[in-house]
Amino acid sequence: MAIHLSSPISDLHGIGLKAVQDLRNLDIKCVRDLLWYVPFRYDDYSVIRGAGEVKAGEIVTVIGKVKSIKTRPAKNRHLKVVEGIIEDETGELKVTWFNQSYLEQTLPSGTQVSVAGHVDDKYGLSMTNPVIEKHSGGVFTGRIVPVYGLTGGLKMNRLRLAMKESLPAADEFPDWLPSNIVERESFSSLAESLKAVHFPDSKEELESSVNRLKFDELFLHQLMFAHVRKQQATKGAHAIVFDEIFLKAFIESLPFTLTGAQKKAIWEMVQDMEKPHPMNRLLEGDVGSGKTVVAAAGAACALHAGHRVVYLAPTEILASQQHSAFVSMLDEPVALLTRSQHKLGTEEIPKKELIAKINSGEIKCVIGTHALLQDKIQLGDMGLIIIDEQHRFGVEQRHALLETGDKPAPHLLSMTATPIPRSLALTIYGDLELSILDEMPEGRLPIATAVVPTPQQKGMWGHVLTQIKEGKQVFVVCPLIDPSDKMGAKSVAEVAKDLSKGALKDVKIGILHGRLKPDEKEKAITDFRDGKIEVLVSTTVVEVGVDIPNASVMVIVGAERFGLAQLHQLRGRVGRSDIQSYCYLLPGELLTQVGESRLKVMEETNDGFKLAQKDLELRGAGNVFGNAQSGFPDFQLATPADVDLMKKARDYTVELLEKDPYLDDYPLVAERIEREFEQVHLE
Ligand code: ADP
Ligand code: MG
Repeated sequence: MAIHLSSPISDLHGIGLKAVQDLRNLDIKCVRDLLWYVPFRYDDYSVIRGAGEVKAGEIVTVIGKVKSIKTRPAKNRHLKVVEGIIEDETGELKVTWFNQSYLEQTLPSGTQVSVAGHVDDKYGLSMTNPVIEKHSGGVFTGRIVPVYGLTGGLKMNRLRLAMKESLPAADEFPDWLPSNIVERESFSSLAESLKAVHFPDSKEELESSVNRLKFDELFLHQLMFAHVRKQQATKGAHAIVFDEIFLKAFIESLPFTLTGAQKKAIWEMVQDMEKPHPMNRLLEGDVGSGKTVVAAAGAACALHAGHRVVYLAPTEILASQQHSAFVSMLDEPVALLTRSQHKLGTEEIPKKELIAKINSGEIKCVIGTHALLQDKIQLGDMGLIIIDEQHRFGVEQRHALLETGDKPAPHLLSMTATPIPRSLALTIYGDLELSILDEMPEGRLPIATAVVPTPQQKGMWGHVLTQIKEGKQVFVVCPLIDPSDKMGAKSVAEVAKDLSKGALKDVKIGILHGRLKPDEKEKAITDFRDGKIEVLVSTTVVEVGVDIPNASVMVIVGAERFGLAQLHQLRGRVGRSDIQSYCYLLPGELLTQVGESRLKVMEETNDGFKLAQKDLELRGAGNVFGNAQSGFPDFQLATPADVDLMKKARDYTVELLEKDPYLDDYPLVAERIEREFEQVHLE
């Protein structure tokens, strides 16, 4: 059967009902989706050696004939050892497999095989548990082999074969990049690059292909920015009259003294909002630096001048938390509106009624999730919109917000804890204004951080118990073990069960993960906030923004699975008041040497910017994938290290739009941008 981009994956060999289901859990339904499922790393088996020529310590492929093969019991009676000899004209190599006694049948003497793996010389030169491929290899051995994230019962080699079978369909992808760019940069075509990202013939080919795909992402984003910039230039905004006496009184009313950085950011914002053009300001500040109060000050000023204000949070949990914060700081009524929550001040009111009051302008301040944008609220004619923890640099949101017809566009304050250096931010956004909170509120103690290897974990849980007895609270964060356990229900349940049976018996433990219904999530967080729960076991849903000042311990299970930026965000959930806090990183079975030094960096610094820098250094250029961890989740492939490529993408964008502002001669480019804007998923 001919395989096309639109073919269902069930058309591929070896992909049966069960595999279809497993792949569906990874959002892969057709060949097109499959081709964009890129490897997260590679095994390099491209060095081919004669059986008699291998050296200890090498990772190689050996192609030859099975000279002999037999199974013998090991000293440990549960173990079966299969021993084989592979021979070719250069000599012989011993290979050993554990518990794979079927090999004696599938690889009888005389079989032509290709084996790949690490050569050791514990008992003479040999390979232990090598990868096997019949004949002379070429998919799992003898080349650079892709390694994919797996789920359910899906087998790596089955996925590799399906990918291999799908590759020809990549030729159906039209190359949307203008041909003059492709030529000047000596890029290979989109189809060739994508094929090489799965099955590269060499390291160089892999690198140049990844580079080409990264450029695609960055160029597309630059084009989108340019589009939004043009859109914005044509827009007016409400000039928000600034009342200094009012602002001073607002600041006086706060229960703490603002830091210098907070004051400066507020000042910059109110000045922007006085102008009749839409503000586009990014407020960047490390976790715990106090961004909320800056946003609240802006909201207070806009409301005081009679304008409407919307605050968009990334999750329901955060929306309700920030709503409480705003209610406590502002004099005006503040509404909360999410899929499951509808409140005015602290009172619940029917959703319909609330929406009507918001749209009529009777209620001027509303806090909700990003979904509000697509939903019932007419955002037009807003004075100020605040986007907390924005994603994708907010370009889609800005686009949506500027679609106000002939009405003025809102001023926009977006906030992020992602530590993008100023120069990089300016390269990416160009037109953006930046305020940075580079100062922590007074009285904060540095969080004591320690990597805790297994033998010391018992003692650590003892310390956790002492903290609980002192009335403090504890977060335990679990990693997602299987990519299809996206909601983390499985991981959380397992860890919570282990703790309640062992280290934390008789402690009130609550759980929080993506599978829970919104009101169950809300209850978990509220119970934790109210102290009804002492330990909250959760996924990374607590990563951004959750503010529970009484929590003093953050335990991160399987810490090596998280990126530094993410670990830093998680750690930032404690140490949010003047109590001494602790962060314990428990490494799991995936810990490598690099992973260990990465975790050690966490012990050394509490500074998000330094960590981001260190993260990049430790990753190195080779490790391109696994971006979800990098704290730069806006792209699938590009990372903050790709500054040069970013500059290039920006320059090409300027050049292209100068030549052809409406992209009349570049219909594929125009179409690509449009498609991307249509895909706005705001939640
Ligand atoms: P983030 O920047 O991570 O969003 P928040 O705005 O949630 O941080 O603030 C973290 C905590 O610090 C909150 O409990 C907040 O009330 C408190 N806070 C903010 N600014 C100050 C300040 N200047 N002095 C003391 N505490 C502050
Ligand atoms: Mg926050």
